[in-house]
Amino acid sequence: MNCLFSCLGLIVGLVPNLVFASPSAPVRNYGLVIHGGAGVISRSELTPEREAEYRARLAEALDAGYAVLDRGGPALEAVIAAVNILEDSPLFNAGKGSVLNADGICELDASVMEGRTLGAGAVAGVHHIKNPVNLARDVMEHSGHVMLIGEGAEQFARTRGYEMIPADYFQTEHRRQQLLKAKELEKVKATKSALLQPEETYLLRQFKWGTVGCVALDRAGDLAAGTSTGGMTNKKFGRIGDTPVVGAGTYANNATCAVSATGWGEFFIRTSVAHDISAQMEYAGRTVTEAARATLAKVGTLGGDGGVIVLDARGNVAMEFNSPGMYRGHRFVGQSRYVAIYPDAPKP
Ligand code: ASP
Repeated sequence: MNCLFSCLGLIVGLVPNLVFASPSAPVRNYGLVIHGGAGVISRSELTPEREAEYRARLAEALDAGYAVLDRGGPALEAVIAAVNILEDSPLFNAGKGSVLNADGICELDASVMEGRTLGAGAVAGVHHIKNPVNLARDVMEHSGHVMLIGEGAEQFARTRGYEMIPADYFQTEHRRQQLLKAKELEKVKATKSALLQPEETYLLRQFKWGTVGCVALDRAGDLAAGTSTGGMTNKKFGRIGDTPVVGAGTYANNATCAVSATGWGEFFIRTSVAHDISAQMEYAGRTVTEAARATLAKVGTLGGDGGVIVLDARGNVAMEFNSPGMYRGHRFVGQSRYVAIYPDAPKP
């Protein structure tokens, strides 16, 4: 009798998981969606040459992730391949080219999640890891934990054979200048209280964002998501944003969708952006676009801005943002690659 109850208990305990993370089914429209950060992207400052560089890097990331999916590889591997290209490019605020904190140091955050198992991994505040998203996956697969931070994350990385990269690898002159400007504006703001000129507000906002992320759907019908960032320019030492917070910056569930977010992390944490989108699909039957818009509206109401990429298990895509632009793109089987920056970009 005891065994009957405990066996029943075990089965009942398992049922929600089985229902929640629905089994994968083969799909015909495998592919991936990426972002390279949302924020103030001004047409006057983004010269045609610079814009071409961004587009080329986004295209390279899409192709790297797509190649994994096309040969039948898992969604998470495609996410890692795409995010690594963006982390290695100094153009984006992740890996090399990350923004500097108030002490002039790059502190990197990243997370990943798999939609079939609901497995997740994250690292925060690391200084010597070339590709933090890879370490996030190792945390998920080999640490027995979901999130490791700072020294502890790097100690774990050493046990996994990671090379410790000198901290100055991540820094660029462009980011140093941004930090100086942000500190100047901070002083102006302190003296003028809320009375910043519109161009000063614009500059302050420009120093935020630039995170990278990817959501992918593989041939087996499994979803995955990953996000990587240097956070916000002039952030306090030890500040952690939404990117490594599972359910805020990243989420994936085969029963709903995969999400990667970019934007003002404090607001994205407070509104649990990535999980909120998934929950709306699960409990209210909303589409990826309806859910993404409703969640970003909540972020906007609190005063935050940014964007999300969302992909469901049927290949439906949303790339929504309430900021003036978002580097973004997707590539799906049988369709040409799509890359866009501004809100008025032609639809795919
Ligand atoms: N969400 C990131 C953070 O707050 C910044 C970004 O998306 O660029 O750390």
